Amino acid sequence: MKIVSVEILQLAGNDGDKYGIPWNPTIVRINTDEGSYGIGEIGLPMGNAAHGQVGLARDYAALLIGQDPFRTEAIWEMLYRRTFWGMAGGILVYAVISAIDNALWDLKGKVLGVPVYQLLGGKTNDRLRTYASQIQFDWGAEPGVMVTPDDYCRATEKAINNGFDCVKVNPIGFDLDGRWMTWNTHGVLTAEQVRTASERMASVRKVGGEDLDIIVELHCHTDSKAAVQLAREMEQYRVLYFEEATAPMNWKAMKDLRNRISIPIATGERLYGRFGFRPYIENQAVDLIQPDLGNAGGFTEVSKICAMAAPYDVGVQLHLIGSPISTAAALQMEAVLPNFVIHEHNNTSLIPANIDMCVNNYQPKDGYFTIPDEPGIGQDLTPAAYEAAAKIIVK
Ligand code: MG
Repeated sequence: MKIVSVEILQLAGNDGDKYGIPWNPTIVRINTDEGSYGIGEIGLPMGNAAHGQVGLARDYAALLIGQDPFRTEAIWEMLYRRTFWGMAGGILVYAVISAIDNALWDLKGKVLGVPVYQLLGGKTNDRLRTYASQIQFDWGAEPGVMVTPDDYCRATEKAINNGFDCVKVNPIGFDLDGRWMTWNTHGVLTAEQVRTASERMASVRKVGGEDLDIIVELHCHTDSKAAVQLAREMEQYRVLYFEEATAPMNWKAMKDLRNRISIPIATGERLYGRFGFRPYIENQAVDLIQPDLGNAGGFTEVSKICAMAAPYDVGVQLHLIGSPISTAAALQMEAVLPNFVIHEHNNTSLIPANIDMCVNNYQPKDGYFTIPDEPGIGQDLTPAAYEAAAKIIVK
């Protein structure tokens, strides 16, 4: 079997949503001479990478023509070593390699008639505890802007009524006028910022009661000084972990923070590859890693990263935002991981326009996902979504 063409499919997107964040999901589809194919999403749907991801995918796609698609390890190495810049890393390089790698694993599963988790070692987890992610955007099909403590009460209530016993919230992402990421939260936080974050967290805890787990997301908008200040205020709310509390590439700042606060530390959605995660793991700078299967290197590389984390007692929560194709791939990986902690369910997974692009709508029930048993990643674009996508075909 040989790869005969690669399609780069740009799904419906925009240059900026109501928060000003561009959204451009892009899929790589790899086709063989036997009519089989696999799909993988480039893990940069959000943010300003619409043209870059397509451009690099075109360059890398050309190297796949004529290759045996079952040789996932060899193709990964080829993209890493023979593209010259591949060995220098970069999130764009790794996101394109990830999409290709995930498409190859999907293809292999579909051809062999087994789900990807069987190819990776079989299920360790029969079901996956799941949290409602980013409730500062409310929880439901229509994202919102949560500003007042009452807003946070309502959003928490919706997530709990939807079956979740764990939520993630950024309590300082919106300022008091409802503007996203405009507050300067580097350096020392003002008393007003600390009080605002604290009142929002108190609302989440009050509605959720003692049995709710709360993850605090900081989107790298705090530095270690502000994060320590915030952590001291947050400790009273029994936080499950702090996510991206300092600059993403600075493991020493992350370790310094871990040594100074009692809340566990998580990071990883902007890290990539075994070399990117290595210092965080071997220096025990974090308690959890959050690699994104769509930008950290795909099934081939993320398997290695997660295995590397295990002997250091570092847990895994895959980062997840994207189309239902990314969700389906993540479920396959998480099913296998012995150090899996919890699955991220973003409110983008509740938006009908995203759900309708794909043939399967995987949603958790009572706060848990079960693992799909369909071949490959168990997901595909609908014929309508495939037809509607802007296509670049490399052959
Ligand atoms: Mg995050």
